[in-house]
Amino acid sequence: MASVDRKEDIIQPGFIIRERWKVRKKLGGGGFGEIYEALDMLTEEQIALKVESTLQQKQVLKMEVAVLKKLQGKDHVCKFIACGRNDRFNYIAMSLQGRNLAELRRAQPRACFTISTTIRLALQLISAIEAIHSVGFLHRDIKPSNFAMGRLMNTQKTVYMLDFGLARQWVGNSGEVRQPRNVVGFRGTVRYASISAHKNKEMGRVDDMWSLFYMLVEFIIGQLPWRKIKDKEQVGIMKEKYDHKSFLKYLPSQFHPFLSHITSLNYSDTPDYSFLRGLMYQGMNARGIKDDDPFDWEK
Ligand code: ADP
Repeated sequence: MASVDRKEDIIQPGFIIRERWKVRKKLGGGGFGEIYEALDMLTEEQIALKVESTLQQKQVLKMEVAVLKKLQGKDHVCKFIACGRNDRFNYIAMSLQGRNLAELRRAQPRACFTISTTIRLALQLISAIEAIHSVGFLHRDIKPSNFAMGRLMNTQKTVYMLDFGLARQWVGNSGEVRQPRNVVGFRGTVRYASISAHKNKEMGRVDDMWSLFYMLVEFIIGQLPWRKIKDKEQVGIMKEKYDHKSFLKYLPSQFHPFLSHITSLNYSDTPDYSFLRGLMYQGMNARGIKDDDPFDWEK
């Protein structure tokens, strides 16, 4: 049989890094790196290791480390444990979380979340995005698989933001919004990309909010109209033609002002995170949703 060109994993279970972290199993092989669960033999805690081959063309782990360090102490952020490199790979050790929001949605009976779960996730997602923006960075790949729920008693109701490999600084040295470049290469994930990102324009804070909007629509409806189309250009055309107001009939009425707000924003504008959270609180009140109601996957 002809040999299959399959990439070997960067590290194998049992491998020990710096005499401290013993690799247990691979959790995922994403776009740029591989994620492993490991045992911290010092603290006996389970941790997550994100590993990037030194041979890889596009090295993004450095950016991840920089952003994760800046975000330490904020809610919705994994604890930074360590980082390092050897001749084969670069790595970050960080706190281990539970299942990501894409897995949790797909495990639901109709592949959607209730309005109660979606609204309460939205509150945390808005704050997580506000947190990264507040340290001067855009995420640029907001999507369900880049958020995970905590896995411990005291974290299982908290959403954690993952993957800062595509982050980019939006703020300049004197606190101003950086001058946009005329043309930029597409970054991120086609399904959740804003129309402006499809047009290869410089992304701003509003584009992270557009991706959040698409995420929330998908949570409630269970799908987006362009889910089956692979071609980035085709999806861009479809998004541009699509009357986004037609999503609103499936969503709580508070999503109308949500959509109007993000539609009103340009590249350099600051999203009104508190206003958007306020809308979600209104939605909770109108429907008698309580903070500590169980999430769909907890029922
Ligand atoms: P990539 O940049 O290679 O796509 P990500 O950081 O997005 O890698 O991670 C890919 C997947 O690995 C996530 O969707 C999530 O399921 C899992 N993952 C990443 N970081 C953690 C973590 N700290 N704890 C638990 N799972 C994680």
